[in-house]
Amino acid sequence: MQYKRILLKLSGEALMGNRQYGIDPDRLSEYAKEIKQITDKGVQVAIVIGGGNIFRGVAGASRGMDRVQGDHMGMLATVINGLALQSALEDEEIPTRLQSAVKINEVAEPFIRRKAIRHLEKGRVVIFGGGTGNPYFTTDSAAVLRAIEINADVILKGTRVDGIYSSDPEKDTNATKFDFISFDDVLRKGLKVMDTTAFTLSQENELPIIVFDMNTRGNLVKVVSGENIGTKVNL
Ligand code: UDP
Repeated sequence: MQYKRILLKLSGEALMGNRQYGIDPDRLSEYAKEIKQITDKGVQVAIVIGGGNIFRGVAGASRGMDRVQGDHMGMLATVINGLALQSALEDEEIPTRLQSAVKINEVAEPFIRRKAIRHLEKGRVVIFGGGTGNPYFTTDSAAVLRAIEINADVILKGTRVDGIYSSDPEKDTNATKFDFISFDDVLRKGLKVMDTTAFTLSQENELPIIVFDMNTRGNLVKVVSGENIGTKVNL
């Protein structure tokens, strides 16, 4: 395997499958099976999970809700997703710990960096819930932050598209896919990979990002073994 310790970012929407809202248990179990393929090969896996399938603070704010209140709801949504993912991983007999950035001790461990690293060394998957624990941030920022903190080799952003395109492939038939692209070129071309806060944090810390299609079976193990699928953003 090319990567020994990875941070996998899954959006909340990824967990919806074909639904409009919430969690699709079949999709969760497919993801758990994909993750099992890499833990079986000894890869250390940390996961940051989003909450957009349940609630987003900005969506609440656009309808008049206090933004911070909405962001707190969004952070709790990521903990709900984390619990669901933990169950699915445990169904595959993968030992898993959920650590939350917001204290919710009866439900999840608090985020403690050294403890998270120890779990990884022992072969446990660590799910980071609660985002960064702060309003006005996203789980993409949480993913980059945690990846840096645990010294991950790479961030794998699992999406439903198979990489980064020159323009939106669903709207533009001339859109071309990049195999590799630099951080600078992503910014220069105005491409959307992550929000700017998350993206520049990754750039400043020289942490590569791979965007790939997580919904095709076998892709995760291919990416981790170094196969050139998806798009790799590097210095
Ligand atoms: N959130 C937050 N701080 C964080 C991470 C998330 O306040 O550090 C809130 C925010 O309201 C966000 C919601 O949680 O909209 C869900 O996260 P996100 O939108 O990143 O989820 P995804 O798009 O990955 O499903």
